[in-house]
Amino acid sequence: MSQELTEDQRAIREMALGFAADALEPKAVEWDEKKHFPVDVLREAAALGMAGIYVAEDVGGSALSRLDAVLIFEALAQGCPTVSAYLSIHNMAASMIDRFGNEEQRQSWLPKLCTMEYLASYCLTEAGAGSDAAALKTRAVLDGDHYVVNGAKQFISGAGASHLYVTMVRTGGDGPGGISTLVIPADSPGLSFGANERKMGWNAQPTRAVLFDDVRVPVANRLGNEGDGFKFAMAGLDGGRINIGACSLGGAQAALDKAVRYMGERKAFNRSLDQFQALQFRVADMATELEAARSLLYRAASKLDAKAPDATTFCAMAKRFATDTGYSVADAALQLHGGYGYLADYGIEKIVRDLRVHQILEGTNEIMRLIVSRSVFSEGNRS
Ligand SMILES: Cc1cc2nc3c(=O)[nH]c(=O)nc-3n(C[C@H](O)[C@H](O)[C@H](O)COP(=O)(O)OP(=O)(O)OC[C@H]3O[C@@H](n4cnc5c(N)ncnc54)[C@H](O)[C@@H]3O)c2cc1C
Repeated sequence: MSQELTEDQRAIREMALGFAADALEPKAVEWDEKKHFPVDVLREAAALGMAGIYVAEDVGGSALSRLDAVLIFEALAQGCPTVSAYLSIHNMAASMIDRFGNEEQRQSWLPKLCTMEYLASYCLTEAGAGSDAAALKTRAVLDGDHYVVNGAKQFISGAGASHLYVTMVRTGGDGPGGISTLVIPADSPGLSFGANERKMGWNAQPTRAVLFDDVRVPVANRLGNEGDGFKFAMAGLDGGRINIGACSLGGAQAALDKAVRYMGERKAFNRSLDQFQALQFRVADMATELEAARSLLYRAASKLDAKAPDATTFCAMAKRFATDTGYSVADAALQLHGGYGYLADYGIEKIVRDLRVHQILEGTNEIMRLIVSRSVFSEGNRS
């Protein structure tokens, strides 16, 4: 462990590891092959308190810390990074309602989100607005006590299966100040979905476009004030980013563990692979790099818990480092399996495919560098 965990944190981690080993890992390869989104299993995770991890207790949440959440997502990802990652997005959407919603909104949506009777999606990206999210064009025009929403969101995780869409829309002028957040129910007339995208990994959860054609959304479904939406979206992503980093660490740890076991069994040149020092050293580097990433990730989570002024920078550093490290460790674990690593049955190539997208979503790793470099070159740091 990178830092001493409390007894409670160790218990939370053990609970999530047990769930990953029993409910996720045995099915993960099959779900990937069949493109099956295991909603029933997600509801089992919710029953253990993992769907509203940092949501307040009065609405059914677990009221845990960001560090606790990172421990949970890392542990779940040891069983299946894709399921863990969807759960992290659901948690991000739920926590935005908890933090920024009014009492009526919290009481009406969060109890169902915490049991996963309702699933949630986070809708920011559009075809013409990915990294430059503040350029989004989906428009919400006021009409009495409703907004009329038109536009399309691209790449939405859980779309089609989710019941609530926490959606960033333009209610005002250009730029971040013109953006608001609406919670849009799936059964709203005029809301529809694109086809489930065919993709390299993350096959155990759907990714679709969400299309809005004159969708009428009550003004009562707006979180906070008009113009607050971009701020809320970015606040959600701070936590989302370390959660995705945790999913990379968990997946990579599982790949490393598989490689170590395999190296003890596989023989070449009359020796098991774990007798070759070059390979032992490779494994030593993989373990060291993962531990370094884990330390940074836990530090970023602690900064977020403490509401430290540099928490956003640390979340960006940790997301970039944990997702790059996780991918390279998983890829190295595949290499240690030789040709067998390339076969689906060994479960390694799936981890590599799943972890690749973590370098792209919740802000690409180039955008993470942008956030970090802005902080490094800021006025305060130059003096
Ligand atoms: C499987 C999957 C699931 C997703 N789920 C969701 C979801 O649930 N909700 C949601 O809102 N979005 C989701 N996304 C979208 C994801 O967040 C975006 O794909 C991501 O933010 C990048 O945007 P883009 O694809 O438009 O790439 P672009 O913004 O077009 O970027 C293309 C390349 O240019 C680089 N680049 C762009 N600007 C700069 C710059 N200023 N400096 C340096 N490099 C730059 C990028 O890093 C990237 O390498 C998902 C994506 C995928 C693939």
